[in-house]
Amino acid sequence: ASGYNLLRDPHHNKGLAFTEKERDAHYLRGLLPPAVISQELQEKKLMHSLRQYQVPLHKYMAMMELEERNERLFYKLLIDNVEELLPVVYTPTVGEACQKYGSIFRRPQGLYISLKEKGKILEVLRNWPERAIQVIVVTDGERILGLGDLGCQGMGIPVGKLALYTALGGVRPSACLPITIDVGTNNEQLLNDEFYIGLRQKRATGKEYYDFLHEFMTAVKQNYGEKVLIQFEDFANHNAFELLAKYGTTHLVFNDDIQGTASVVLAGLVASLKLLGGSLADHTFLFLGAGEAGTGIAELIALEISKQTKAPLEETRKKIWLVDSKGLIVSSRKGSLQHFKKPWAHEHEPVNTLLDAVKAIKPTVLIGTSGVGKTFTKEVVEAVASFNERPLILALSNPTSQSECTAEEAYTWTEGRAIFASGSPFDPVELNGKCFMPGQANNAYIFPGLGFGLVISGAIRVHDDMLLAASEALAGQVTQEHYDKGMIYPPFSNIRKISAHIAANVAAKAYELGLATRLPRPADLVKYAESCMYTPNYRSYR
Ligand code: NAP
Ligand code: MN
Repeated sequence: ASGYNLLRDPHHNKGLAFTEKERDAHYLRGLLPPAVISQELQEKKLMHSLRQYQVPLHKYMAMMELEERNERLFYKLLIDNVEELLPVVYTPTVGEACQKYGSIFRRPQGLYISLKEKGKILEVLRNWPERAIQVIVVTDGERILGLGDLGCQGMGIPVGKLALYTALGGVRPSACLPITIDVGTNNEQLLNDEFYIGLRQKRATGKEYYDFLHEFMTAVKQNYGEKVLIQFEDFANHNAFELLAKYGTTHLVFNDDIQGTASVVLAGLVASLKLLGGSLADHTFLFLGAGEAGTGIAELIALEISKQTKAPLEETRKKIWLVDSKGLIVSSRKGSLQHFKKPWAHEHEPVNTLLDAVKAIKPTVLIGTSGVGKTFTKEVVEAVASFNERPLILALSNPTSQSECTAEEAYTWTEGRAIFASGSPFDPVELNGKCFMPGQANNAYIFPGLGFGLVISGAIRVHDDMLLAASEALAGQVTQEHYDKGMIYPPFSNIRKISAHIAANVAAKAYELGLATRLPRPADLVKYAESCMYTPNYRSYR
């Protein structure tokens, strides 16, 4: 290949870091200015220029341009500066990027599979340049973060999630494939926008939708085999549960909104017991939001308590209550409830508001998964704080604008007694001369390590016990030093090590359950996971 093309190939380009020898050997003479600099210096220069941008979206665009230009440098930046750059390539900024995707996109990323490709999905997959795919993240754009239906512009999410698979989890970038399935959108604003990049029609539903998804799932397995991980992301709940149940028995599938969220929240709860004492079974849980995240978390908590106490699931579910848009979910509503809410319809008189539900249920743990911001009002938080010495408050909705309350509000309204974590990050809060470190309860802790564990063990199915194994590994990474600061999640700066431990625990469970195909089982799975991780340092071309 010519030097000119080498500079334009993001997988191989090193820019000014090409050495004198490489410049000679690969016809690069004259195509670069004379200076030869190290990857570290390139990184320093780029971080400096990124920090000049005031607008987060401009940082996002600069990062995406870097990914298009020099992949290894992109990942080096992301890995070495994870706490600073996670909010740029992921929540909250990725939300804004999706809303404006049509106008910021330069070169398309990932694969777009629209209804126009019906009957030809296998051919579409074969247009992708890489063959050895290990992880697919797919969305249909119907419930992007807490922002609703963004149609084809949801592509920002699979692209961002897969960047984290590589940076946080260690999956090779060439093994990652972002996919957006476009069956239309019900977002009127997009349908009327002349610059909209997606199919200009209302969403296909029912049989047409399910047949199309089935063609996709079949084509993926046919093309990539049984060990490719398919992560469903940001599907609306009226499809998400059904797709997960339908393909869970035939494919290696995982729904991050239902299962990843559950695993990360369970880890935070287990860790918080170190601060609170007691066991999970001592707690009463109240959720605002009974969709994918809410019921997914609720079910995993019930499962864990049931494993610990040997009580049946039907019993352990009874200390978990959920509020949806119509109020507290109670048994008198059973007939009209969506099936995923039915296990949570306990005996109780109807309660209409969150505040009244808090007063009636007296939860020790309050969890927000509604996608609606500012719903943990002063009254709600004060009520929870009135009967708990240390109330546990998790405001999980993303992006920041949809957070149920801010970190500052949670600490202020509880006089600093709350243990708080949120889905999107908040800065530390100073209150009465004391510094409070809010946690980030985000599935980014879990899915990269979980997925990597599935990949390195060659797992062919996902089992709930693997989610518990991932939780346990994450909780195990919180140290006394973190607890002393009131933290229930470890800092993201250690995420590669955390992911290796999660991957190892998940892989161990896959072997134990007979679902792993990579044989023989490596003796030390943590070491093995670490040795398999992608590193972004430049290679020398001879
Ligand atoms: P979902 O399946 O659409 O569920 C939303 C739930 O909230 C539904 O039960 C809905 O009620 C309820 N709801 C909506 N408006 C409400 C209101 N004003 N009052 C009370 N309940 C209301 O969505 P999801 O997948 O669970 O996601 C929800 C949010 O969680 C999103 O913002 C998402 O970004 C966030 N999330 C965070 C993480 C994380 O890692 N931190 C992970 C996943 C999701 P009905 O059922 O009555 O419609
Ligand atoms: Mn999601």
